[in-house]
Amino acid sequence: MKDATSGGVQSVKEWKDNLIKQDEIDRYLVDGKDFIDDDAIEAEIEKNRAASPERIRAIIKKAYDVNLMDSADVAALLNVTDPDLKEEIFTAAREIKHQVYDNRVVTFAPLYCGSKCVNRCKYCGFRCDNDSIERRVLTMDEIEAEARVLATKIGHKRLVVVYGEHPETDADYIAESMKRIYSIKERVRNGVGEIRRVNVNAAPLPIDDLKKLHEAGIGTFQVFQETYHHKTYREVHPEGTLKGNYPWRLYALHRAMDAGIDDVAVGALFGLYDWKFEVMGMVAHARDLEKRYGLGPHTVSVPRLEPASDTDFSWVKHRVSDDEFKFLIAVLRLAIPYAGLIVTNRESPEMLRSVIKMCTQRDADSRVGIGAYADAFPADAEAGGGDDQKGERQQFILGDTRSLDAIIRELAEMGHIVSFCTAGYRCGRTGKKIMDALASGQEGCFCKLNAILTFQEWLEDFATPETKRIGDTIIEQEMKEVRERVPADFSEAQLNHLEKARARILAGERDIYF
Ligand code: SAM
Ligand code: SF4
Repeated sequence: MKDATSGGVQSVKEWKDNLIKQDEIDRYLVDGKDFIDDDAIEAEIEKNRAASPERIRAIIKKAYDVNLMDSADVAALLNVTDPDLKEEIFTAAREIKHQVYDNRVVTFAPLYCGSKCVNRCKYCGFRCDNDSIERRVLTMDEIEAEARVLATKIGHKRLVVVYGEHPETDADYIAESMKRIYSIKERVRNGVGEIRRVNVNAAPLPIDDLKKLHEAGIGTFQVFQETYHHKTYREVHPEGTLKGNYPWRLYALHRAMDAGIDDVAVGALFGLYDWKFEVMGMVAHARDLEKRYGLGPHTVSVPRLEPASDTDFSWVKHRVSDDEFKFLIAVLRLAIPYAGLIVTNRESPEMLRSVIKMCTQRDADSRVGIGAYADAFPADAEAGGGDDQKGERQQFILGDTRSLDAIIRELAEMGHIVSFCTAGYRCGRTGKKIMDALASGQEGCFCKLNAILTFQEWLEDFATPETKRIGDTIIEQEMKEVRERVPADFSEAQLNHLEKARARILAGERDIYF
C-alpha cells in the first residue's frame, strides 16, 4: 500500500513501524556502541589545539600519499589559525585535487521526486508539520518528463534523484523511477539526449530494499548523516520519527555495501553542530567503511544550512562562516584525499568559484522544486528557464541559478574540463577497483581520455557558440597534453584510439568510452 487514506493493505503507521530492522543495526555495533565516540572526538580536537608548524607541514606532506588521514592529524589541521599555514593547506588541497582528479569537474543536477515526508527534521522545508509546502509525489510519467528536460534541453548525463521518506516513495518507487530515467533516449542536434548515471539521495533503507536499487543500476547511494554529534542529532530529529534513529542512519552505507552497492557517499549538513566535529565524524565514517569493506566513500558532500520555506532557524548556534566553510573543504580534501568532493548550488557563484579547484563535482542549472524542470521548459516553448524558484514547492532556496552552459563556460575559462564520463560503473570500474586506481593516479588516465570524449559530445549537442569556442580550446589543450605524455602515461595505441574516437564523435557517433 502506498497511502493510509487509500484504504490499502498497509497504513503509513504500519509502514513506519516495519521499516527499521533492528538486527541490521545491531550487527554493526561493537560492544553495543557505534563508531562515533563524541567524547573521544571532542578530546582529540582539544588535544591537538597547538600543533607546531613542523608537525602541520609533515601532515600536509603525508596527505600527498592519498591515504585516509589519522584522526589526530585531522584535528591538528582543523585547529590551524595561522594565515600562512592555512594558505599552505589550501595550496595542498588544490594540488591533491589535481594529482588525483586532474583539472576535471563533473556536473550533475538534482531531481526531486516527492515532497511527502514522514519526518520532522527541524531544518527542512519538507518536514511533515510544515503546512506551507505543497505535497506531491511525481508519477512515473512526470519523472520521465523531468528527466527528459534534463537530458535533452539542458544536456545533463548524470542526476541525483532525491526523495522524502514516505511509503509513496519507497524502494520500489525509487527503483522504478531510476529505470524510467535510464529508458530515455532522444535525438538532440547531432547526437542523443540520455541520462547515463542515476545517483540516489534517499533515506536509509533495509538491505533487501537496497538490493532493488542495486539491480536498477544505481550509481552512488548518498545518505548524509546531517550531524554526527549524538545529542544534536536528537535535538533536530524528534524522537519517534524514523529519522530520529541515529544508528539506523549511521549504518545506511554499511547496509548498502552489504547489498552490493560499492559506491556510497557521506555528507554532513554544516551549521547543525561544530564544523570541526562534523569533519572528524566524516573521517571516522570513512575509516569504519574502509575497515569493514576495504573501501571508503566515493564522494563527500558538504551542504550548508540554507533558509527554507516557513522554517525557523533562530535555534541555530553553529552557523559556518564563509572562511570556515572554505577551510573545512580544504581539510576534507587532505583528510579523505581519494574521495570526490561535492559542492552544490546552495552556495553562491562566488563561493563555488573560490572552492571548485579543491572539489570534483558541482550541480548546475538545478531546480529543487517538485516538477520544476518541466515547468521551466514547457514542451511547446523554446528552451530557456523561467522563474520557478517557488518557496512552497522546494526544500530550500538556491544560491546559484545559472544555466549549465554558463557554468561550463565559466569552468572552461578557469581551465577546467567538464567531464560527462559515466564509464566507470558501466565497465566495472567501481568500488575498490576505482578507488585504488584513483589513489595510484592510474584511473586518472582513463578519466582524462573519457573526459575529452564526453566533453566533445556535449559541446556538439548542447553548447552555445561561445561556450563551444571556449570548450574546444580546452579540448585542444587536453589533446596536446595527452600527445606529450606518450609514452610515459599513455600508449601510442591509446592516443590513436582517442583521435579516432574523437573524429567519430565529430561525425555524429555517441557514447564512446575507454
Ligand atoms: N529525505 C532524505 C533524507 O533526509 O536523507 C533525502 C533527501 S533530503 C531532501 C537531502 C538532504 O537535504 C538532506 O540530507 C539534508 O542534508 C539536506 N537539507 C535539508 N534541509 C536543508 C536546508 N535547510 N539547507 C540545506 N540543506 C538541507
Ligand atoms: Fe524529510 Fe529528508 Fe527533509 Fe528530513 S531532510 S524532513 S527526512 S526530506
